[in-house]
Formats: sequence, structure tokens, C-alpha cells
Amino acid sequence: MKRIAILGSTGSIGTQTLEIVRENRDLEVVALAAGRSVELLEQQIREFSPKVVALWDEKAAEALRIKVADLPVKVYAGMEGLLAVAVLEEADVLVTAIVGMIGIRPTIAAIEAGKDIALANKETLVTAGHIIMPLAKKHGVSILPVDSEHSAIFQSLHGENRAQMEKILLTASGGPFRGKTYEELKSMKVEDALKHPNWSMGQKITIDSATLVNKGLEVMEAKWLFGADLDQIQVVVHPQSIIHSMVQYVDGAIIAQLGMPDMKLPILYALYYPDRMPLGEKRVDFFKLHSMTFEEPDTKTFRGLKLAYDAATAGGSMPTVYNAANEKAVGLFLQRRIDFLTIPEMIEAAMTEHRVIAAPDVDEILATEAATYEMIESRWHF
Ligand code: NAD
Ligand code: MG
Repeated sequence: MKRIAILGSTGSIGTQTLEIVRENRDLEVVALAAGRSVELLEQQIREFSPKVVALWDEKAAEALRIKVADLPVKVYAGMEGLLAVAVLEEADVLVTAIVGMIGIRPTIAAIEAGKDIALANKETLVTAGHIIMPLAKKHGVSILPVDSEHSAIFQSLHGENRAQMEKILLTASGGPFRGKTYEELKSMKVEDALKHPNWSMGQKITIDSATLVNKGLEVMEAKWLFGADLDQIQVVVHPQSIIHSMVQYVDGAIIAQLGMPDMKLPILYALYYPDRMPLGEKRVDFFKLHSMTFEEPDTKTFRGLKLAYDAATAGGSMPTVYNAANEKAVGLFLQRRIDFLTIPEMIEAAMTEHRVIAAPDVDEILATEAATYEMIESRWHF
């Protein structure tokens, strides 16, 4: 029996993780956390009987406490709640399916408590990878990638000597705006950006896919997860999203993982690694697929990807600025207070102003995040 805790259980990755629990009797849910969805979390509590749950929002947590008063579950709120879920004694693995840098503290706490991490929350690794990776090593815990590309890389590295890896070929669908010009991007609205061609995901990552910031974050995520140098990570646009990423070795051999675009496979692989479990979803039919195509990413039009390489090259606290400015900008875009192209503009302006701290600790990372938000609020009037 594997006992799991989930941060972000009501979201896209969280609910798909629970679908997998439903289909596999040797998985048990012991703790769940979400932002503010009282009703869905109540349903999840009644179905999966966790011992501890948390809602970020205090009022929502209070409402939930009343609704589940008939059950022996403890309900927490705020950061205290996320930490309680992260370190629960009974859990073996923590699935980090929360959005944004809010995941840093609970992920660190879980590692210190000896939990393996099934990591979807890439923002945590982008901003605090220099803390998280050595800490995981020190505590002997595994960081198992849930992001589909990183799961593909992880699978392609399985049984190989990592020192013989020449480069990572990180595939990208190109998002809903692939092929558009800079001029055309000016008028793109929230509805347009939310129409991803291949994947159905949470709102923030869907916008990040349209700006290519998601791919930028994934480059940094790959750097930390696989100890790769930046010049060993190449983004390849592959619009069909069948090859989920590849690893090229020193002899020129390329090993890839292919499959339908479905997050359940990487989630399942992270939960059962190194075993493979049956998954009754659709299979790739090569005769229907007919062809797979590849392109170079257009980093002139989609500046989000270029800025990610700049942030990773600068290192230290710069990826935090990149990520925090993006989180702020995406929030404003979703509220329809800024245009689509203001997102990369904000990221670039925040990065230009920032003075890098070489190896920021958690407090410095969070202070950098706050300073980035303030800078954007003072510079832009929306
Ligand atoms: P989502 O928006 O669908 O879900 C987010 C979850 O986090 C929800 O349960 C929400 O209630 C919870 N949450 C948000 N703020 C919170 C807070 N302050 N405290 C507690 N809970 C909070 O997001 P998602 O698409 O599932 O993405 C989750 C993470 O996984 C992101 O980092 C994303 O980049 C990554 N990811 C997602 C996918 C995907 O297919 N959706 C693929 C790869 C990686
Ligand atoms: Mg991905």
C-alpha cells in the first residue's frame, strides 16, 4: 500500500491523480489540500477519507469544517495547512500539484520529513532548485517528475548511464499561437489563449503554453532534475505532442518516450516508478497519425522562451524574478487588465531591474518575489 498526500487536489493534475487512486486499490489518500473549493474538497473527503485536509482560504476552511463535522478528518487553513499536509506522518509520497511558488515551503518541509515528491509544481524547482535538489539527496528522497516532458526524459534515461547523455531534446507543442506573427499576437484575448490544441490543463499553465513561458520554465526544471547544462537542453517544436521528449547520447542514439497526450501516464509512472501499471486510455495509432513534424521555436516572436534562457544563464535569484513577474502578469491577463504581449514585457522589465543574489535562501526567494510584484505594480497602471 502506498499512501499519498496531494497539494492541489481539486485542480487538473490533482483530480487526475485521484482518478488513478480510484483505479488502483493499492494507493491510499491520507491528506489533501486545495485553494478554496469547499464543495469539491468535501466530495473528495467523503470519497477518499483522508486524515488531514487543508484549504488556503481561511473562510473556506471554516465552511468546510462545518460541512465535514460528522467525519474524523482534521481541517487546517493557510500555510499551516499546506505544511500539515506536506509532513503528515502516514504519507509516503507528496504529489505537488499546486500552482506557483507557494509550493516552495511545503515541498521543502516534505523532503525534510522524508517524503518522496511526485513533482508537478515546476515553479518550485525553477525558483528553488538549488535548495531542493541537494536537500532531496541529503534526505535520500526521490524527486519524481510528473510534467510530461520530464517524465519522458526520466523514462528515456532509465537504465542508461547519465554521464553518457549528450543532450535533452525537450519537445513543445508550440501552443495555440504557433505560427502567429508578433503583430497578430497583439490582439489575442484570454479565450484565444485558453484554447490549447492538445492538452487540457489549469488556466495558468495554459496561458504559459501560449507565451512559451511554460517551455522556458521546463528548460529550467530539466536543468535541475537531470543536472544538465543549459546548452545541453534544446527545445524542439513538435505540434502533434506524441513524442513527449527525448534524450540523445554520446554515440548519437536518441531515446524517446511516445504516447497519447494524457497526463495520467506520467502521474502513474511517478507513483509506481520503476514499475509500469496498466492504463486503459487511448493508444497511439501510427496509421491514423500518419506523420509527425518538427520545427525550430520562434524565440523572436515568443520572447518568453528566450527570456527563460537569459534568466537561467544569470542564475541565482533571476529565475525567481522571471517566474514571479510571469505569475503576476498571467494573473492580470486572466483578469483582462493587460494585453497578451504585456506578459513578456513585464518579465523583461522586472529582469532588467533586478540585481542577482547568487544563491538565495528561501526568505530571499520570497522577498525577491514580493519585490518583483511591487515593481510591476508601481511601474504599470492597469
Ligand atoms: P490547476 O489550476 O488546475 O489546479 C491548481 C490546484 O492548486 C487546485 O487544486 C487549487 O485549489 C490549488 N491551489 C491553488 N492555490 C493554492 C493555495 N494557495 N493553497 C493551496 N492550494 C492551492 O493547476 P494544474 O494545471 O493542475 O497545475 C498544477 C501544477 O502542475 C502547476 O505547477 C503546473 O505548471 C503543473 N503542471 C500541470 C500540467 C497539467 O496538465 N495541468 C502539466 C504539467 C505540469
Ligand atoms: Mg509539460
